[in-house]
Amino acid sequence: MPGKPGRRKSSGKKGKRVQRVAPPETLAEDPLVTKARIAAATEALKILSKPPATRGTLELARSINKLTDRSIAEVHQACEDGDLVACQSGCTYCCMFPVAASAPEVLAIANFVRERFNDGQQAALDARIDANIKATNGMTMSRRDRVRLGCPFLDAGKCTVYEVRPVACRGCSSYSVEDCKDDYEEPGTGVEIQTNNLREFVYGAIREGLAVACKSASVEHRPLELVRGYKIASKDSTLAETWRSRPEVFESVTGERVFPGPWSDELNQEFEEVYRMTIGDLETGKQKT
Ligand code: SF4
Ligand code: SF4
Repeated sequence: MPGKPGRRKSSGKKGKRVQRVAPPETLAEDPLVTKARIAAATEALKILSKPPATRGTLELARSINKLTDRSIAEVHQACEDGDLVACQSGCTYCCMFPVAASAPEVLAIANFVRERFNDGQQAALDARIDANIKATNGMTMSRRDRVRLGCPFLDAGKCTVYEVRPVACRGCSSYSVEDCKDDYEEPGTGVEIQTNNLREFVYGAIREGLAVACKSASVEHRPLELVRGYKIASKDSTLAETWRSRPEVFESVTGERVFPGPWSDELNQEFEEVYRMTIGDLETGKQKT
């Protein structure tokens, strides 16, 4: 696999300043990163090859989430630094950024809310979703980085969809809660948050693998803005089954309109490279078997 020194991970929680703990050249070539991307693409392609069904969409999100948790555990086992990670339940300084998520992840969250929230909880969530959308309409990413609005899925300091939270939220971590607190209290001042860089690359690769599979299956592969994507998904309970044949359905919650900033084109270009490389890796793997 060709190395990709300095390649940024696919969009997730933006505004996070990460100090590189090890040289990026080494990390970009780490077998764990390649393994995670190929595993995500392979698993997703397998599920997407079946006829469209709500169960398949939920299975896709579940398998990607499981892969993320497993891969992150492998990273910390390999680096022997699991005990250094400061993240814990109820720590939410990292829940103040816009989040990008795939269509299956968004649809799984909407399904989770439908099944687990009572009417009052759903109404309260809907109100927080609407308030967030209203407050962020037209905001650039750098402005959103400074404003730091809480994620609408937060309630009383806890993530209400923790079980199905997106890969971006599962991957996000820090060695120091004080760094996160400083960054939250002094947004836009360049506070550096130290984290395990291999973990960052691995969860980025899983998101890429899923996106590669979705693109290859000709279904929505672009990152969606979580809050606005959820709003669409929450209004239509048939979407978990039908999204694959409705390419237009998430059009308004992806791209430059909701992720404005100079990095959009760069990310698209990078993704095309990753797409070609991963499809090549998958074909080579197929030829070997
Ligand atoms: S990334 Fe920072 S704010 Fe988020 S859970 Fe970890 S320590 Fe807390
Ligand atoms: S979905 Fe949950 S973990 Fe992710 S940003 Fe929102 S509250 Fe935090």
